[in-house]
Amino acid sequence: PVVLGIESSCDETGAGLVRGGRLLGHAVASSMDEHARYGGVVPEIAARAHVHSFTPVVQLALEQAGLRARDIDAVAVTTGPGLSGALQVGLAGAKALAYTLDVPLYGVHHLAGHVAADTLEHGPLPNPCMVLIVSGGHTSLLLVRDLARDPIQHLGDTLDDAAGECFDKVARVFGLPYPGGPAIDRAARGGDAGAVPFPRPLTGPRDDPYAFSFSGLKTAAARWAERHAGSPLPVADGSAALQEAIADVLTRKAVAACRAHGVDTLVVVGGVAANSRVRSLAEQRCGEAGITLRVPPLKLCTDNGAMIAAVGDLLVRAGAEAAPLDVSIDPSAPLEYAALHPVARA
Ligand code: ATP
Ligand code: MG
Ligand code: FE
Repeated sequence: PVVLGIESSCDETGAGLVRGGRLLGHAVASSMDEHARYGGVVPEIAARAHVHSFTPVVQLALEQAGLRARDIDAVAVTTGPGLSGALQVGLAGAKALAYTLDVPLYGVHHLAGHVAADTLEHGPLPNPCMVLIVSGGHTSLLLVRDLARDPIQHLGDTLDDAAGECFDKVARVFGLPYPGGPAIDRAARGGDAGAVPFPRPLTGPRDDPYAFSFSGLKTAAARWAERHAGSPLPVADGSAALQEAIADVLTRKAVAACRAHGVDTLVVVGGVAANSRVRSLAEQRCGEAGITLRVPPLKLCTDNGAMIAAVGDLLVRAGAEAAPLDVSIDPSAPLEYAALHPVARA
C-alpha cells in the first residue's frame, strides 16, 4: 500500500509517500524565512503558511513519486505535539484527502516520525534500539522496541531547554542568523573547540545519567559573549566550543545508555542530528564502544512528511486500526506510542 504522510507541527509543511518501507517521493515547504525577523516561529504565520503550502506540497510529492492521488491507499498525519494552529491545518487537509479518497487515516506522533525517518534510509529498526532524539523542542533518550506495537520507554529528557533550542538561542546572542543550529555549525568550521571551557551539564557521577540540561550552557555562552563587549566576538571559537560541549554531552550519555541497557544500536534523530560535530563524535564514540550508529540523511533529520509516512506505513503493515475522521490534534501529546491508535498486542 502507498501511504501519504503529512507533517505540519511547526514551520515545515511536509508531504511524503512511502510504500513497503521505501521512500517514493517527498516535498517540504518551510515558512522559516517569514519567521526570521522575529527570531523564532510565529504560530499564526506558520499556520497560514501551511494553508498555502498544503496542496502544492502534496502535489509535488506525488509528482516526484510518479503517482496520482488515487494511488494513495492510506493517509498518516502528525496529530501532535506541536503548534495547535499549525497541526489543525495539516489534520484538516489529511482528513479531507482521506475522506475524498475513501482511505484510512492514521494519527502519528511527531517524534515517532523523527525516529522512523531513519528506516527510510537504513531499513527496519532493530528491536530493541536506543534512540537519542535531539530537536528544536526535545532532547530525550528512548528505548524503542516495535514502533507500531510497543510503548516507547522514556529513559530521560531535558530538564529545561532542548539542545536545538540552546543552539538557536546562543546563535542569537552571537549575532548569527535564524535558525541558529545550522548557523553555528557553519561558523564553527573555522573555530577552535578548545578555546572556551564551556560546562558539560549533568555529566557528574551523582547526576541522572539520562537527564539533560542546556539552559546553563546557554547562560555560560551569553556570559562569555558579554565579556567581549566592546571588542569583536570570536564567533567561530565560541560556536565550535558550544557545539563541542553539546555534542560531547549528547553522545556520552547516549553511548552510556546503550551500554547500561545492553543495546547494540544507537539511532540519533531530529534536527540536531544534522549537526556535523554531533554526527562525527557519535560515529567515533559508537565505533569505540562497538555500537552500530544510525543517523538519517540530513534532509530527513529536520521536519518532513516522509517520516510521518514511514510511521503510517509501519502501522498499515502491522494492521493498526484507523483513526476516526473526528480525531483531534494533541499539541502536547506525550510520547507513549508512535500512533494515536497503536496495534493491540494479542
Ligand atoms: P520538535 O521535533 O522537538 O517538535 P522541531 O520540529 O522544531 O522540534 P526539528 O525540525 O526536528 O525541530 O529541528 C529543528 C532544530 O534543529 C532547530 O533547533 C535547529 O536549530 C536544529 N538544527 C538543524 N540543523 C542543525 C545543525 N546543523 N546543527 C545544530 N542544530 C541544527
Ligand atoms: Mg522547523
Ligand atoms: Fe521535529
